[in-house]
Amino acid sequence: MYALSLTLERDPMTATVSFVEQVNQYFDSAARLTKHSQPLLAKIRECNFVGRFAFPIERDNGQIEVIHAWRAQHSNHKLPTKGGTRYSMEVNEDEIVALASLMTYKCAMVDVPFGGAKGGVAIDRKKYSPAELERITRRFTFELHRKNIIGPGIDVPGPDLGTGATEMSWIADTYQALNSHELNSMAAVTGKPVPLGGIRGRTEATGLGVYYGIREVCSQADDMKKLGMSPGIEGKSVIIQGFGNVGYHAAKYLHAAGAKIVAIGEVNGTIVNYSGIDIQAVDSFRREKGTIIGAPHTELLLNEQSVFELQCDILIPAAIENVITKQNAKKIKARIIGEAANGPTTAEANEILISRNIMVIPDVFLNAGGVTVSYFEWLKNLSHVRFGRLEKRFEESAFRRLLAAIESATGKEVSQEVLNSATHGADEYDLVCSGLEDTMANAYQQIRQAYLRFDGKADMRTAAFAIAIDKIALCYEELGIFP
Ligand code: NAD
Repeated sequence: MYALSLTLERDPMTATVSFVEQVNQYFDSAARLTKHSQPLLAKIRECNFVGRFAFPIERDNGQIEVIHAWRAQHSNHKLPTKGGTRYSMEVNEDEIVALASLMTYKCAMVDVPFGGAKGGVAIDRKKYSPAELERITRRFTFELHRKNIIGPGIDVPGPDLGTGATEMSWIADTYQALNSHELNSMAAVTGKPVPLGGIRGRTEATGLGVYYGIREVCSQADDMKKLGMSPGIEGKSVIIQGFGNVGYHAAKYLHAAGAKIVAIGEVNGTIVNYSGIDIQAVDSFRREKGTIIGAPHTELLLNEQSVFELQCDILIPAAIENVITKQNAKKIKARIIGEAANGPTTAEANEILISRNIMVIPDVFLNAGGVTVSYFEWLKNLSHVRFGRLEKRFEESAFRRLLAAIESATGKEVSQEVLNSATHGADEYDLVCSGLEDTMANAYQQIRQAYLRFDGKADMRTAAFAIAIDKIALCYEELGIFP
């Protein structure tokens, strides 16, 4: 259908569908539902740029090791491009290109004005000391800078699998050292610690967005009825695969909203408790012991059954890609799958899930909370002012005047508790959460409307891709290049 220049679509050893090919299959299904010309669709689908790196670093024992890394910028229809940086032994060019493509569609889906990008370093971070990780991160940043593919208006990395605020602070510091004259240098990377120009709420943003997204889906009584479920989150049983940044925060907010987390799968095993797992207790245990296995009031799943095959209402893969396959898709018992990870479901598995009337909430929507709040952080860095700083006090005194007027008109005094909550002016965290909630709710309504409009011709993922394609196509159509 499209002329692809990439040669990495199919793994010749296994002849399985590659991650890039999988994303492109989703794209193709959605493209058929749009009215755009073939050249325009081919332009949107293709990855625009891939950089490969092989740089030496010195290990603590004095030995030199060559590190392999990639950065892909899938689409430059909007600038900067944006995408996380993952540290994992599984990182390869196919994965990075596929993830960069997903970023393009995700940003378009939630109206974040960036093109999609992704970076990755092929390391097992557990095998490196903090000092070695710092050297790797700083050198990778230097390489990106040397090729002019990092900067507030060029390409903005963020955290992903295996990286967090610490790595982002090293990227920020290195970029700033190389660009000391640049006023906006802090906007060259997001996911930074708050004292270094980060934004309150970024750490939990993806997991919180997953919660907002699932809550929105579950609030549609008609849709829930078709799945044989009651509306709302409360009382729903949930299973999470991957108890990292995204998995932990998604579990935390779902648990707080009354869902019952009944199992958590990690690399070294699955813990279960069908009465409900205490998420904070598991997190404290994990911080202390470095594993979730043995956490209080949980049992280790001893049989061969995978975490995906256990009984639950909502299954949330929050670890890596390609974990829901044609082998296990037939055995899944959940009614809803919430894709918190990127690309957890293979295209073949997706077909099986649709045929089994299992609702799949697609990654391009559900995990968009991270990039949404990264966008807020980027805006904060460019404006050099904390959200809420100018208006918080003004709002509070306006609320106080309003309450005083009500008190004088009614002759009744409001309680201190009401006074405190009613006169709270929005601070940065409030505004970030509010912007994220609004983004996730709006995006889901767009997907649902498109899904209903396609009247059986599209699942949720295809509907989301079709919306994203339409939005990106608009940018190119304005240029007048494509028929
Ligand atoms: P993380 O490194 O913080 O956590 C990943 C967790 O998954 C770790 O605890 C790891 O041990 C576990 N894991 C890895 N392989 C596993 C396996 N085979 N089975 C069970 N557990 C496994 O990473 P994260 O930031 O939470 O990212 C998780 C997923 O969410 C990734 O797909 C990532 O691309 C996606 N995502 C992350 C963000 C973000 O803001 N961090 C944003 C959007 C999407």
